[in-house]
Amino acid sequence: MLPSSGLKIGRIFGIDIVINMSWILILILISVSFGSVFYNTAGFPQGIWPWVVGVVTGILFFAGLLLHELSHSYVAKRRGIDINRITLWLFGGVAEMSDEAEKPWDEFCMAIAGPLATFILGGIFGLLYLLLSQWNVSIVVVAPLGSLSFWNLVIGVFNLLPAYPLDGGRVLRSILWHRTGDLRKSTRVASLSGQAVALLLAGIGVFFFITGPYYYGIWPLILAFFIYQLAQSGYQQTLLRIAASDTRVRDIMYTNVPLIDASTPLTMLRYNYFTAYSLPAFPVVDGGRVIGIVGRDDLYHVSAAEWDVLDAGRVARPLSPSQAVDPDTTLDKVLKRVLGGDEFMLVVEGQNILGLLTKEELMRYVETKMKILQQK
Ligand SMILES: [Zn+2]
Repeated sequence: MLPSSGLKIGRIFGIDIVINMSWILILILISVSFGSVFYNTAGFPQGIWPWVVGVVTGILFFAGLLLHELSHSYVAKRRGIDINRITLWLFGGVAEMSDEAEKPWDEFCMAIAGPLATFILGGIFGLLYLLLSQWNVSIVVVAPLGSLSFWNLVIGVFNLLPAYPLDGGRVLRSILWHRTGDLRKSTRVASLSGQAVALLLAGIGVFFFITGPYYYGIWPLILAFFIYQLAQSGYQQTLLRIAASDTRVRDIMYTNVPLIDASTPLTMLRYNYFTAYSLPAFPVVDGGRVIGIVGRDDLYHVSAAEWDVLDAGRVARPLSPSQAVDPDTTLDKVLKRVLGGDEFMLVVEGQNILGLLTKEELMRYVETKMKILQQK
């Protein structure tokens, strides 16, 4: 659901800042909205002024959203959680974490940092607004400050709604998690709370559709839809993480994986190995040393006429570092790598090949465990 592509605009704290294309559209919409507010503000210079100031206000507003995400990311980094990049898109910013917090207090600090920054920013804009309007500074400066203050406070409050995985939901989860020590139950409650918030927002939306003005109902309905979806998928993701985190690769790997000698003809490889074993790949060795891995797919790239001519050594692909895994790695750490593409990983300890971890087996194991967790 989250966008993955965009334009890189910079790097702060070692984090790439990326703009998703949807963001430019939203920036235009927001700038026009600010512009039309200024256009209708008594005493505001007319002509091109409301729209120029609208664009400046829009950019400042989005800079505030970036500051919000940076605050999350900064605290995360300080607590040893890597942030790959921040993507600004449709509804603001998304900080992409490589990992989740492992302690309630870490999660609490990370979650609260964003809204805190937004509230401080809203407060600063508000103070400036009050001061400068006292001093009779031009409305061209004062009106944007008022709007920025108001909307930052609104965004701050919105983010603090107790709806996991929004910031407020994370705060709620971290408090419950700290009290009960049960990450799954805490996430379940925070996610249910998110669904309740979504239903409430939907109710508000429907209310305005019935009583009017109907356009007041559009945003609550859109937000309700997103929050509901996020709450559900957020819980599933946590379940996945819990299901995977207490099991190690060595617990579910295939052992006794035959090593294929590089001189083995492909015909033999096909019938004696791929057909005989239900494994997607085999390590290929030459003189006792692993030279690569041969997968089922590699055979399909060879025409049948060549099966008797070619040998395993010719079709084996060198092992990439991402295809090798330590047996004591927990499954949550390999999950992302496996979901990213590879159908299998070679389990390696030092120079020894201990076994093979297949995506199929990993998914089967994790899904079964998630079902058990869900019934708890
Ligand atoms: Zn946030």
